[in-house]
Order: sequence, then structure tokens, then C-alpha cells
Amino acid sequence: MTANLNQLNLELVEASQVRDGAGEFALVKDANGTRLAIAPTGDAGRAALSGFEGDASSGVLVGPLSPRNAAALRGRLEWLRPRPLGTSTSAGLGDRLGLATPGHVRAVRAVGGTIAPIFPQQSIREMARTQRTPIEVMDDATWGMFAEGWQGGTGADADHLKTTDDIDATLLVGFSMFTIDPSAHVDSGADTDDLATLRAKVAALPWAELEDSEASLRQRYLGKAFAVEHLSVSFDEAVVLRAAAKYGKAVSHVAKMSRHLLKAAGSRPVELEVSVDETDTPTTPAEHYWIASELRRLGVAWVSLAPRFVGRFEKGVDYIGDLKELETDVAAHAAIARHFGPYKLSLHSGSDKFSVYPIAARLARGLVHLKTAGTSYLEALRTIAALDAALFRSIYAFARERYDTDKATYHVSAELGRAPEAKDVPEAALPDLLEHFHAREILHVTFGSVLKQTNPDGSLRFKDELFGLLRGNPEAYATNLERHFIKHLKPFVGGR
Ligand SMILES: [Zn+2]
Repeated sequence: MTANLNQLNLELVEASQVRDGAGEFALVKDANGTRLAIAPTGDAGRAALSGFEGDASSGVLVGPLSPRNAAALRGRLEWLRPRPLGTSTSAGLGDRLGLATPGHVRAVRAVGGTIAPIFPQQSIREMARTQRTPIEVMDDATWGMFAEGWQGGTGADADHLKTTDDIDATLLVGFSMFTIDPSAHVDSGADTDDLATLRAKVAALPWAELEDSEASLRQRYLGKAFAVEHLSVSFDEAVVLRAAAKYGKAVSHVAKMSRHLLKAAGSRPVELEVSVDETDTPTTPAEHYWIASELRRLGVAWVSLAPRFVGRFEKGVDYIGDLKELETDVAAHAAIARHFGPYKLSLHSGSDKFSVYPIAARLARGLVHLKTAGTSYLEALRTIAALDAALFRSIYAFARERYDTDKATYHVSAELGRAPEAKDVPEAALPDLLEHFHAREILHVTFGSVLKQTNPDGSLRFKDELFGLLRGNPEAYATNLERHFIKHLKPFVGGR
């Protein structure tokens, strides 16, 4: 007799149901919550069950959504295993709460499934702020994909890695894309230094690590103009010294991180992104050219690069700046990316940059990666606002208290004085705060404090209630996410 899932007295999550050589897999629900069920086929199936944990006494295994079962499921169903995405148009759908993947999957499907998704994506900084570990980020995305029956594959982006320890921790649990953030080694001051200061800074660069010398650097660039499609990228002494002073140590750091990654990954396929977006000043086309050329000289291979574009990419709101200027900037960076790669231009802080998407998609000719994270938290708050106005109001009031402290590490310009006070907003108008520039940024950057805040008795002030509501109303959250992300993804469909 072959076991089958329908013999269980449990509600099947139909979208999750899938069959392979070893048996039938699905999520099941009852009053105790959601669990994994597997009906094995024959002896091979029963042997395959050994990697899973749970009760198999009925012939069907029913087990928890545990790290072991998530890992075993990834081992079994190859589409759940993150893989490098190469140069396909892609989108990173960061999820600070770990509940957003079902809505993300629906949006990717709704726009035709041609954009390669990255469901597990979180920076080390955000993991610290949300008290999540790399394996939790991975597993939450695994269960979300499985619940929706997503078989289109995924990448997994270990975002904004600063140390080799960050690489090791995320590589271990199956991340496939490693975003190296050398911003701590970028000298933004070089932007305004005079020539004498630049000369001194360049003389002090770690030349041995750069496998280079100042004389050789000058010889490669000084007085030269390089043709890159419509551009002529020219280097006089100030330009080349400024690029080297600003990014020389960063280039050396990326090369070190890359070597560490490739060695640690061994035969496992991985890909690398270089991100210099979190710096004070824009990356000029000449500086992008210099970074790419120097990384290539050092043997680094990368699949995408995030320059710091002109204008302001603030968190959770549209682009602030002159779109014509941005267009010229993106065209230059895209040409350089095609010249040295081709590799993708990566749009960091990509949430809600609706006026940028059509420009980036067209000028990068589909060689583009969109990275979002915080906007999924804001959609969670929109969901909460509709489900429990009082809870949302108290989160907003608390966010206002925290804003001046929490904004320090983000690019935001919201002012408390220009966002309504929580007590002044009528209940029906609470969801509108999510459309209000100042309120939106205030809510965006305070997520860590909201999740961590405790009551005097030590219990969590918001987190448990917030998660309880989202878990209890998964359709409401998924519907909001789907609607919101269709707007993010649609401009990138058919970009090549
Ligand atoms: Zn970034």
C-alpha cells in the first residue's frame, strides 16, 4: 500500500503540493499550526525520509517547519536551492520579518515569471537589527517558496558583507550571491582634496596588496582617454589620483574578500556583487571605470556592481533629484558595465524608486538588478493598519520617538515636524500615513527598534502582536505585497 497525503486528517495547503521520485510533499494545517507532510513512494522514498524529522508512524511523515526539515527539503527539491543568477534581469526581495516570500512569489508570477528572483536576501546589519540569523533568513524564504509551489528557482543574496566572517556565516547556510560592501575603505574626503593631499594619499596606498606601484598606475591612466560606447573617459592627474585615493583601499578589500569567497566556496557555484552605494558622494563614470578596470587587473569576477548614483536614493520613497541628470549618469554607468562585463548595474535602496525603473531598465538594456528590502516591512505595516488600527497607531507613535536616533545610519531626510502626530490622525486616515513622505521614512528606519522594544515586564512591546496578526492573516499581507511589487517589477519585464 502506498501512503498518500489525502489519508491525513489535516488540511492540505494545495499550492504547496508537489511530487518527485521519492514521494509527495506538502504543507498541512491544523489547530497546532502549519507542518510539513511527506508521503514516501516505495523503499527509495522511505530511505529519502531519513533526512527529515517528524512522526512517520502512520506511513506519512508529519514534521515541524524546522531548520532540519528546511535543509532536507532543499536537498530534495532542487528548485528550492539557491543558485547564481548570472546576468539575467533580477530582483532582490528582502524580507525583514520572514513572512513576505509568498507575496513576493505571487508578484514575480504576476509579471510573467521572467525576472529572476532573490527571495532570501538580508544584510548583516539588518540581521542584527531584526535579531535573525542567516539560516533563519534562508529557511523563511524556503518555506515561503514551498508554500506557494514556486519552482522557478531563486538566488540568495548575502547583502552588504564587510568581513570574511560575514562571508563564512552566509556561505555555510547556502547563500549563492555575496554582496561585498567596501564602504568602510572608501575615502569620500578625496572628493574635495587638493592635488597635494591626493598625492600624499595615493603615495600611502597599500601598493603591495594592490600588486601595483604608483608609477605603473600613472602610466596606465595619466593623460589617457578611453572610448566606451558614447563616452570618452579621460584621466588627468586629478581624476586618476582622486579615483585611486577614494577607492584604492576599497578595491584591495574587495579583492581580498573575493579571494576568500572563492577559496571557501570550493566547487560550489557562487557570484559576487560589488557595492559602493553607501558612500557620501556619487561614483563618477571615471571612478566606475577605474574601479572596474582595477578589479579586473586583480582577477576579481563579479556579476553586478552598485555605484552611488547622482541624486538621492532615500529609503522607501521615490528618487529625489533631477531625472535628466540621473538618466545621463545611468547611461554612462551602464555603458561601462557593458564594456567591462557585461555585468549588471545594481540599484540599491531600490524600494519605491518608481520614476527610476523605466530609465534603468531601458538604459541598462535589462542588465540590471533591483534590490529592495524595507518596502516589504512597510507593506506589513499597511496590513496592520487595516487589521488593528490601535496597534498601528502605537507603532507609529513609537517610531516618531525613535526616529532621530534610528535615522543615523540611513539616507533619509524626513522631519518629525512635518509628519502628523499619532494622536491627530483619525482612524480611517491611518493607512494614508504610508503614502506620506515623512511618516513613511520615519516608519521605515525604525523597524529594528519596533521589533526589539520591550515592556517593563520584559515582554516584547509590538513584535509578538505584529507577527501574530500577519501570521493569522497571510492572505491580507500577501495581497498587499503582490500589488505593491507588481509596480516594482513590471518596468523591468522584457528589458532585453
Ligand atoms: Zn546597498
